[in-house]
Amino acid sequence: MIKTTFTEEDFVKYNDPKNVMMQLFGVTCSVCGVDEIDFIDEKAPKTLGQVAEEILAENPEIDDEELNEMIEPQIEAWQELDDYNASIGMPTFLCYNCHDQLIEGEISISMTEEE
Ligand SMILES: [Zn+2]
Repeated sequence: MIKTTFTEEDFVKYNDPKNVMMQLFGVTCSVCGVDEIDFIDEKAPKTLGQVAEEILAENPEIDDEELNEMIEPQIEAWQELDDYNASIGMPTFLCYNCHDQLIEGEISISMTEEE
């Protein structure tokens, strides 16, 4: 089912400590492409920054390679969500402006076919 209306309940505040997602993927607003994310899909898994922070809190001696391995399943969870969202016209990442405008119904998500 294609999603056409959006409410505040559809999104939660984005919190990615140390901007891990930004560094790994260069995440951008799903609508306009700016790299300042303020909100994400409320179905989203924990951000990679949150997961990394928890892992480091429990395993202070962990090295980067081990940390990356432990984050891996979370990366897949994000990929799955983003693929699913793309299929239903739901943005995964939103900047402040697009979040406001979507909820106000001032803009809509245009579905484009993959090339
Ligand atoms: Zn935007």
